[in-house]
Amino acid sequence: MLLSTLAESRHLYNEMLETVKTHYDETGKFLSRYDLNMAFKGRGGEGVPQTVVQTLADRLGKALKRFFHRKELGQKVGFPRFKAANRWHSIQLRQYGSGRDVYLDPDTGKLRVPKKLGSRLKVKQHRPLEGTPKTAHLVLRADGQWYVLIVCDMGEAPEKRDGAGVGIDVGLKVLAADSDGGVVENPRYFRRGAKRLRIAQRRTARRKKRSHRKKKAAKQTAKQHLKIARQRKDHAHKTARYYVDRYAFIAVEDLRVSNMLQNHHLAKSIADAGWSNFINILTLKAENAGVRVIEVPPHFTSQRCSRCGEIVQKSLSVRTHVCGSCGYVADRDENAARNILARAEPSGSNVAGYGERSPRSPLL
Ligand SMILES: [Zn+2]
Repeated sequence: MLLSTLAESRHLYNEMLETVKTHYDETGKFLSRYDLNMAFKGRGGEGVPQTVVQTLADRLGKALKRFFHRKELGQKVGFPRFKAANRWHSIQLRQYGSGRDVYLDPDTGKLRVPKKLGSRLKVKQHRPLEGTPKTAHLVLRADGQWYVLIVCDMGEAPEKRDGAGVGIDVGLKVLAADSDGGVVENPRYFRRGAKRLRIAQRRTARRKKRSHRKKKAAKQTAKQHLKIARQRKDHAHKTARYYVDRYAFIAVEDLRVSNMLQNHHLAKSIADAGWSNFINILTLKAENAGVRVIEVPPHFTSQRCSRCGEIVQKSLSVRTHVCGSCGYVADRDENAARNILARAEPSGSNVAGYGERSPRSPLL
């Protein structure tokens, strides 16, 4: 039932997008979320509950909003796409609660969902709910299992703590380096996982197009991706915990800027991608513990001497910072981390427009 709802809701979403496009071609205007909802009321058919139809309009509305927002900023952005089956994995439900769209029944341990989704689903609860549950998503992951994500409101964040801060820099050889000389190594299983992924990708590529065996290999590759993502996430949580427990504020580079600086080094851009996941997790954890995460402009953090401020030019391959003017010697990443920390400190050369980061994605 879930699989057919997933497929039917995807078709409905695509139809909504088609409607939006046609309407634009005819009138030069975009349909609002409200108009979409009205146009598709009662269109759920056999498999899609009304609450899911509404979330489809929400999803499309958000996609359009993101598109216009990024376009306004002058960024390169494509119009929302029609969704193929391999880009559509979740069914969203609106309101959580007894007698509402979705509810985890404490008496039976079953997940109550609309009739079209099976009324009561057997679930294995991984951890207790915290805060006030608001909505839920049913997600089909690459391991072939369905997961339910229950989104909870955690209430007001605690008061911000006072105390010492730390600067963290993205490392190339290591995952990260901090201003106290600490380094976060890349765990060895990252490399092992990457190797297994390469092997799986090659196997998929070798097999004949559209064959059963190719599909099977692609599934294996997707599973390996999922495994790596989970390992990275787990490691990011542990690293974030380490810093959140020890410091009152944490300074990091503003990625929006470093991404715009366009680095031509593959290794660097890959490190940045993992870094942005880490920062998301760090920010959420910090928020719950009253710790500030402060973003600073990244310009010259690796070139400038953190002791005297002199610019010391070095290419990416130079691992050690050696200052010709004051004689300061430090690991390249540690020196950068010290500069990052200095920019976040109240007395530092903080630039307007930068500052405390607020959590972004609630769904990690
Ligand atoms: Zn110096």
